[in-house]
Amino acid sequence: MTPAPLKRILIVGGGTAGWMAAAALAHVTRGTVKIELVESEVIGTVGVGEATIPPILLFNQLLGIDENEFVRATQATYKLGIRFHDWHRKGESYFHPFGVYGTRIDAASFHQYWLRLNKAGLDDDLSAYSVTTVASQMGRFTRPDGDPRGVASQMTYAFHFDAGLYARFLRQRAEAQGVTRHEGKVADVRLRDGDGFIQSVRLDDGRELQADFFIDCSGFRGLLIEGALKTGYEDWTHWLPADRAVAMPCTRVGDPTPYTQSTALEAGWRWRIPLQHRTGNGYVYCSPFISDDEAQARLRASLDGEAMADPNFLRFTTGRRKKTWNKNCLALGLASGFLEPLESTSIHLVQSGISKLLLHFPDTGFAQADIDSYNRQMRLEVERIRDFIILHYHATTRDDSALWRHVQAMDVPETLKQKMEQFRSRGRVFRYDDELFQETNWIAVLLGQGIVPERHDPITETIPLDHVRQRLQHMKAMIRQGVERMPTHEAFIAANAKAP
Ligand code: FAD
Repeated sequence: MTPAPLKRILIVGGGTAGWMAAAALAHVTRGTVKIELVESEVIGTVGVGEATIPPILLFNQLLGIDENEFVRATQATYKLGIRFHDWHRKGESYFHPFGVYGTRIDAASFHQYWLRLNKAGLDDDLSAYSVTTVASQMGRFTRPDGDPRGVASQMTYAFHFDAGLYARFLRQRAEAQGVTRHEGKVADVRLRDGDGFIQSVRLDDGRELQADFFIDCSGFRGLLIEGALKTGYEDWTHWLPADRAVAMPCTRVGDPTPYTQSTALEAGWRWRIPLQHRTGNGYVYCSPFISDDEAQARLRASLDGEAMADPNFLRFTTGRRKKTWNKNCLALGLASGFLEPLESTSIHLVQSGISKLLLHFPDTGFAQADIDSYNRQMRLEVERIRDFIILHYHATTRDDSALWRHVQAMDVPETLKQKMEQFRSRGRVFRYDDELFQETNWIAVLLGQGIVPERHDPITETIPLDHVRQRLQHMKAMIRQGVERMPTHEAFIAANAKAP
C-alpha cells in the first residue's frame, strides 16, 4: 500500500493505446495529476489496427470529440458489421451485423419467432430483419436520427480508420490538455527496494523519468509489465493458433463498403478494410502451416488495388498477461495481451481497460482489493471475447487443410461449449459476466457457422402463427423501405466528413 496521493503518471508507449490513455486521463483528471508519455519514433508502432466496434463512439463522446472532425482526421469510413466468407464452408458467406434483429414481438427474443416460422416452412433469412445488414447489402449509411419508431434508429455503427492518424489526433488533444511527451528509448526500468514497485524508467540518453503510477503501452514487448515485473503470460495458442500476420495497404478501388470483409484461407484468414484514402489488407496465419513468403504472395494476389507499401510482417502469441495490473503498473493494448483481430476487439480492450481504470482509480494509493477487482473484470471480459473468436474457427465444416481440421477437432473452453449447446437445443443465448458481445452477435455467428437450433422457444407459441408471419412481413418491408431512403455510404461521407 502506498498512502500518498497519486501525483504523476508515466505512460510508456505512444501507439493507439498510449495516446488513448493519455487523452482520456488528461481529459478526466483535468490537471490534478501530472501525465507524461514517452515513446520512440525509432521503434515505431505496429501500424495496423483499423476496424473498431460500436463502443468506440462512447470513448469519443467521453472526450468530447466531434464525429465529423474525427472521421475527416482519421480518413475513416463507417462500419456496420463484418462479412465472413468461406468460414463455415467454402463458397458460403454470412454477415455479422452491429445492432439487433427485428423489434420486440412478445416475451421471447425476436429470433425465436423467426425460428418458429422457419420451422413451420417459411424459408427466410434472419438477415432481412437486421437494418444494418440490409444497409450494408445496399451500400447505405446514415446515423440514427433520434426517432425511436424509425428504421434509422436501429443503425448501430463503428468505424474503419487509420490507427496511426487516430493516435496523432489524440496526441494533439492530449498535449493541448497538458500531457508532456518525451521522445526517447526506454533502456532500463528501476524497481523500488522492498516492495518491488516501479520507481523510474531510464532512457538511453541517461534521462530518468519517475512516477507514482506507470501505464505500460509499449506493445508486444510489455517492457514494464513483463520485462521488469515478470508478470507472466497465459498462452492461448492451443485455441487460437494464428501467430503471424502480414499487412499490405492498397489503393482504393470503387466506393468503400460500410463493412469489413474477412475471408477464411487455407492457413488463416485475410481482412479487407476500406478507408477513405486506401484499403487495408492483411493475412493472419499460422506459421506451422504456411511460410511468410507464401502468405505474402497469397495476400498480394488477392489485392483489388495497387500495393501501396512493402509487406509489414508481425509476430504474436495469442493470450493474455496473467495480471493486467501488477503493483503500480497497468498494461494496456498489446502489452496486456493479444486476441487476433477477427472481431476488431483490441482497440476496444484498450478503451475498456481505461474505463475500468477510471472506476478503480488509485488516487490515494494502491488498494489490493481494487487491483484484484480490476484484474478479475479484465480477465472475464477477455475470456468471453476469446470464446467468441474461437467459435468462428471451431464451428466450421472445412477440412481442406491442416488448420481447419485442427480447429474443428480441438477441445474448446467449457464456457463456449455451453453456449453452443444451449443454442443448438433451443436457440437460447445468455450473456455472462457483463460480456461485450450481445445476443445478436452470438446468434449471427452461431447461425453463420451452421449451428441451427433443433427447436424454438415454446413461449413463442402463445401468439398465433399467422400473426407472427404478418408482423415479420411488415417488419421486413419497413426495413427495406427505410434503408432505401438512406444515402449511400460514399454520399454520406462526402456530405459530412470527407477528408481533405
Ligand atoms: P504499438 O502500436 O506497438 O505501440 C507501442 C509503443 O511503444 C510505440 O509508440 C513504441 O515506440 C513504444 N515503445 C516500445 N518500446 C519502447 C521503448 N523501449 N522505449 C520507448 N518507447 C517504446 N485492433 C483493432 O481494434 N482492430 C483491428 O482491426 C486490429 N487489427 C490488427 C491486426 C494485426 C495484425 C495486429 C497485430 C493488431 C491489430 N489490432 C487491431 C490491434 C491494434 O493494432 C493495437 O491494439 C493497437 O494499435 C494498440 O497498439 P499498442 O499501442 O498497444 O502498441
